[in-house]
Amino acid sequence: MADCIFCKIVAKQIPARVVHEDADVIAFEDLNPQAPTHVLVIPRKHIPTLNDLAPEDDALVGKLFRAGAAIVKARGQDGRGWRAVINTNADAGQTVFHIHLHVVAGRAMGWPPFPA
Ligand code: AMP
Ligand code: ZN
Repeated sequence: MADCIFCKIVAKQIPARVVHEDADVIAFEDLNPQAPTHVLVIPRKHIPTLNDLAPEDDALVGKLFRAGAAIVKARGQDGRGWRAVINTNADAGQTVFHIHLHVVAGRAMGWPPFPA
């Protein structure tokens, strides 16, 4: 996708602090981290939102979560607790329209995710 910032990271056309990559997914540090660990795990394939998933993407979605879990585990943050979030469209605050799993760890979090 020509104008997608995350496709440009996949293509190495813009820099990112990559922490994991394999044939299907790539993970990099969020530019504006909200926790000691705030990594985005994305598919190499351009999929705009969760609304656009096809049956053929089932395994890919599993890989996003398994990559996130491996990153948190490697940092020793799996035991205390961590969160995996995919925002979809405006109400959820999605700003980049290439699916990305936020992997957040290293600090206590709140719930539910609404402003006070
Ligand atoms: P969302 O609001 O769920 O679409 O999340 C987009 C996330 O992408 C935000 O947390 C941004 O800080 C992050 N972000 C945007 N551009 C970049 C970039 N070039 N490199 C790393 N993270 C980015
Ligand atoms: Zn893209």
